[in-house]
Amino acid sequence: MEDLRYQVDMLTAMNNTYEANERIYKMILENTGHLFIFYQPSTKTVRTFGNWSDYFDTVPVEYSDIIKLIDLLSEEERDNVRSLFFPDSYEINENSIVAKHIDGKRYIEIESHIKRDETGAIEGYLIVLSDVTKKQLLNNELSFMAYYDFVTGLYNRNYFVQKLKEYLDKAEKEKTIVAIMMIDIDDFHKINDGIGIIYGDEVIQNFGIYLRGLCRENIIGARFDGDIYSIAVYSPAGNSEVEAIYNEIKERLREPFLLTNGSSVTFSVSVGVSEYPEAGTDALELINGAEIVMLKAKDAGKNAIRYFDSDILNEFKTSFTIENKLKLAVNGLSFFLNFQPVYKAFDQKLRGVEALIRWKDDEGKLIPPGVFIPIAERNGSITVIGDWVLEQSIKTFMEWKKKFDADLIMSVNISSIQYKRPDFVNKVISTINKYGMKPEELELEITESLLIDDIESVYDKMDELRDFGVRMSIDDFGTGFSSLSYLKHLPADTIKIDKSFIDTISTDTSTRVIIESIIEMAQRLGYDTVAEGVETEDQLEYLKKAGCDYIQGYYLSKPISCEAFEEILLRLI
Ligand code: C2E
Ligand code: CA
Ligand code: CA
Repeated sequence: MEDLRYQVDMLTAMNNTYEANERIYKMILENTGHLFIFYQPSTKTVRTFGNWSDYFDTVPVEYSDIIKLIDLLSEEERDNVRSLFFPDSYEINENSIVAKHIDGKRYIEIESHIKRDETGAIEGYLIVLSDVTKKQLLNNELSFMAYYDFVTGLYNRNYFVQKLKEYLDKAEKEKTIVAIMMIDIDDFHKINDGIGIIYGDEVIQNFGIYLRGLCRENIIGARFDGDIYSIAVYSPAGNSEVEAIYNEIKERLREPFLLTNGSSVTFSVSVGVSEYPEAGTDALELINGAEIVMLKAKDAGKNAIRYFDSDILNEFKTSFTIENKLKLAVNGLSFFLNFQPVYKAFDQKLRGVEALIRWKDDEGKLIPPGVFIPIAERNGSITVIGDWVLEQSIKTFMEWKKKFDADLIMSVNISSIQYKRPDFVNKVISTINKYGMKPEELELEITESLLIDDIESVYDKMDELRDFGVRMSIDDFGTGFSSLSYLKHLPADTIKIDKSFIDTISTDTSTRVIIESIIEMAQRLGYDTVAEGVETEDQLEYLKKAGCDYIQGYYLSKPISCEAFEEILLRLI
């Protein structure tokens, strides 16, 4: 009896412990955030743990409920989930998949573990379900970022290149064509400057979204960088398909793009096209080719489409050769200066001289600055070249001063790249000091386009230089801005009216109106006016009458060598 009591007590105690443990396990399982199902096909029993009501309306109680559970997951994944619950083969003991909940919001990861006894026979299955929504959304976002441009939803550059490679492989097998279009918004920096970067980004986005709408089964689109987009067409239906896409884009661009601030923007695009296999067989080669012709379309006046041809490639190769020669020239400094006199319009007295760089390449060919300066700007060698021009012109000027005691102004052209360098002002001041020049004897010519970029820091430097005494001149005036109003606040001393206006004085009345208002405005604000590219007496007479202060051009003198200019100076003493 005692014995029996003892045994009952024991069992009760054990039972209590067991129940306590069970409660603890249950609590733990409920707090893991996971759902568990353990089921045994042999006995068709199902046990569940966890807070099922957080995820599903039903809790599987019977074996057949498992099917109902599977139906609560998104349809695409159901077959996979089913084979996870009821595998055909039992070789893999663990497996998992992520399926979407039918609520469309949550992602559930389903892991299956096959439990075996000591003999290896299947005892049952443990299925663990977890909510992985956060992780999955992050994953989706990451893979989106890896493939797409998140501003426009177009492909990004890398993914586009990968897709293009697939197109090319397929085209090689199917002996067909792939066309690549590079699309660039014209004068985007002006849009940005006019409406601000935020709305500039909105333009990039809206146009990108529009381009995305053009994509179809055989058309993919990407945004590369800034305002550059690309479209690839697989096996275009004849040459006209690219043309049709271009026309569609042009048609859309007739209408403005509306922005969230209520304003609207219209713009044009320049497009370059290259085709596989004609322009190349490699994805990057084709993209490069399309980019080269796109830049060509820009050079030729924008708002146009251009197709790759071998001439363009040759021209590009020439410029590439120039670029390489330029690098050597910069090292060896095989440049020299020419000087073009600037005269007073009224009595043709010498005002000063403009230094113009010249370069003879290793074959003795003279390459015009209009050709190599832009290349030097692109590859950065303009800094070394510009420093050389500055120093050489100041040095030469001081030699003239010693020899001829001439009272002149030396004008030096400054590239925007050179101007924007942080040490530019110091460079100018230290070079002036090195040669003992008076600051007011130096006039720096910068172009109007520089003023659009980063107006504040550009103005700050102009102020600094002018405070030191250096004169500032705005070159090619009239080509960059349409309004004269900004003239008022310009920290400059001289305005050089662009040659294109001088060229059309006799043929175009509106040109004359523009010239006269530039001169009038400049006079009122106290700027010197210089007309450049004056080639005829008529032009000279007209400019004189219009009140232009100074004249520069072939009519009075072409750019000449240092020695030839010294002869002019000699005659002055
Ligand atoms: P720019 O500063 O507008 O220089 C005037 C250009 O017009 C010069 O061409 C000059 O030779 C040419 N020119 C002057 N008068 C006449 C004329 O009556 N008729 C015609 N048809 N042309 C005339 P160049 O020397 O070929 O220089 C072209 C451009 O290259 C310059 O335009 C300037 O932007 C740039 N450049 C020249 N030298 C330098 C330099 O040392 N540094 C920098 N950054 N740019 C330079
Ligand atoms: Ca100039
Ligand atoms: Ca000019």
